[in-house]
Amino acid sequence: MNANHPGSAIVVHGGAGAGRELDDGCVQAAHAARKQLEQEGDALDAAIAAIVSMEDDSRFNAGTGAALGLDGATIEMDACVMDTRGRLGAVAGLRAVRNPVLVARDVARTPHCLLGGEGAERFARAMGHTPYRAVSEKARRAHKKMLDQLAGDAQAMPGVDNRDFATFWNYACSPAFAGKTGCDTVGAVVRDQDGHFAVAASTGGSAPSLLGRVGDTPIVGSGFYAGPHGAVAATGIGEHIMRHMLASTVYHWIAAGTALDEALRRAIGLFPADVAVGLIAVSRTEAGALSNQAMPQAMVSHG
Ligand code: ASP
Repeated sequence: MNANHPGSAIVVHGGAGAGRELDDGCVQAAHAARKQLEQEGDALDAAIAAIVSMEDDSRFNAGTGAALGLDGATIEMDACVMDTRGRLGAVAGLRAVRNPVLVARDVARTPHCLLGGEGAERFARAMGHTPYRAVSEKARRAHKKMLDQLAGDAQAMPGVDNRDFATFWNYACSPAFAGKTGCDTVGAVVRDQDGHFAVAASTGGSAPSLLGRVGDTPIVGSGFYAGPHGAVAATGIGEHIMRHMLASTVYHWIAAGTALDEALRRAIGLFPADVAVGLIAVSRTEAGALSNQAMPQAMVSHG
């Protein structure tokens, strides 16, 4: 998906490998972002509106649909926001919140950029985010499937021995295996009419994962980046994405003059086919999305 257009642009994704049948959720999120952009004109508020829409749609692995940890009980979420008006905030390993992206937005108002674990949760409560502990039916089904896969021979996470999850197990209960690598983080990038850029993302994390695992989503330059030349969000297996500092790598290619679709192609080409990865990006004149596994997505440009 690609567009060459000045004016505002919004691109939304629902996670590499999550399947195009979730496109409607991305379209709805892109419309929420456009409505926000039309009302307030601020790229970051628009990106956040898109993410809240998908966090509230429990088909996505974020917010209300966030994935269960291997113990079948714990949910730890990551989220981020960044824009060219100087805002940068992220949360990692955050529990019991409906909309982690709104907590990330609040972090951007503090002296810090990233809050994790218990401190992030206490901060969320202090900022008025009420406890949310519901587990979606989809997350329960995915957890069961994951345990089945971890018990089998096929690698649940590319390049990783399934037995590693038992060897390094750090949940309070004992391991009861199985799983499939799950990647359906949500992300949004926006260019507003004033030429400002913003990115926001939220995830229940990639599965399977040990307790306390943090992926690329809240790591600036890996899962997300925004600067004067554009904004980029990545999705896929965070352990692979981080090794390439993917969002900042793509951003710098665009800043150096590489056409956006070429930058996305080159970036996806860095990964083996069995490693799910996807990207969305906006530059001063372009907008696009690319992935190596079916990724729900939507794009809106204007004026
Ligand atoms: N990148 C996310 C993570 O590794 C997962 C995803 O994009 O779906 O936590």
